[in-house]
Amino acid sequence: GSKEEVRIGTLLHNTYTLLQSEANLKGIQIELHRIEPDPLITVSPNSLKQVLINLARNAMEAMGEIGGGLLTLSVEQTPDGVCLLVQDTGPGIAPDHLARIFSPFYTTKNTGTGLGLFISKKIIEEHNGTLQVTTELGAGTVFRIFLPR
Ligand code: ADP
Ligand code: MG
Repeated sequence: GSKEEVRIGTLLHNTYTLLQSEANLKGIQIELHRIEPDPLITVSPNSLKQVLINLARNAMEAMGEIGGGLLTLSVEQTPDGVCLLVQDTGPGIAPDHLARIFSPFYTTKNTGTGLGLFISKKIIEEHNGTLQVTTELGAGTVFRIFLPR
């Protein structure tokens, strides 16, 4: 999509609003951590929103399996850009699965497409950024989007 300057916290808040009712149904609480001043970034807002929704939906689906949890969406300023974090208290990802989650069509869900993370990574790379994951079994998972200034 075409790029424009947006406030990252505003974009995160839009995502939060969109996911709220879905979270309630699954017994999931969502926390939003914004920073001041709200960083301005040049992105394709619709593409980035799509990435945030993909990551948050995955997190909520994972937590739904264990009856609920906490989804945290946060912004961090770094010396050369910003990080957006999508953090869950779900079951985590086993090491033998972790290596494959960004592969197209890799899914552990009955009705999954396995394309969410593949496409998300592509979108972030189109922004010259990175998408990384850290996970701990039985504790949760963090996806970290880095976007350079
Ligand atoms: P899909 O959601 O259609 O399965 P994705 O590409 O979005 O495809 O995700 C691939 C797989 O990565 C999922 O099927 C799931 O096994 C794993 N995964 C992704 N995010 C999480 C998460 N937050 N917690 C646990 N597993 C996850
Ligand atoms: Mg998905």
